[in-house]
Amino acid sequence: MDNEKLGQLIRRLRIEAGMTQRELAEKLFLSDRTVSKWERAQGCPDVSLLPRLSAIFDVNLEKLLAGDLAESSADGGNMKRVKFYVCPVCGNVMTATGSGEPFCCGRKLSPLKAQLADEDHQVVREVIEDDWFLTFQHPMEKDHFIRFVAYMDYDRVTLIRMYPEGPGEVRFPKRGRGKICFCCSRDGLFELK
Ligand SMILES: [Zn+2]
Ligand SMILES: [Zn+2]
Repeated sequence: MDNEKLGQLIRRLRIEAGMTQRELAEKLFLSDRTVSKWERAQGCPDVSLLPRLSAIFDVNLEKLLAGDLAESSADGGNMKRVKFYVCPVCGNVMTATGSGEPFCCGRKLSPLKAQLADEDHQVVREVIEDDWFLTFQHPMEKDHFIRFVAYMDYDRVTLIRMYPEGPGEVRFPKRGRGKICFCCSRDGLFELK
């Protein structure tokens, strides 16, 4: 693992999440000195910590790193090509790049195919300060709701889960020229132009 790259990535994700080194360290049951060392490339987290880090930042660190390291190859690492999967049994949302096919609840999942947003799936998109602010004109009911919104740019995917009865709006940092898509629990994946 490339200490420097991982250190920078952790620092960037931590700052974007609005966390101090101490706050991140506490979530990992480590000292803030350890986090500080990682960020200065004087060490790197044990591989066993990656899943926990991924969960804290809500990104797939292993995939991100693999993507980062594959940057020089022709098509490696472009997160705009990430695939989304939803388990029909438990509703779990997963992402994958490349040809890996995730399993959930004992079955292999197929990637969702994005379609252009139709008139029942319109979104009001605004930029507020440096954030995207999306408002859905869509039911948020148990059997028909927006399950997640994803924002993809070159090196990362921001995935925001949404829930029935929740507000039909999300806000997330606008970075680069990313692509936005969202998933309706009934009608599948839509892409915004
Ligand atoms: Zn499942
Ligand atoms: Zn729908």
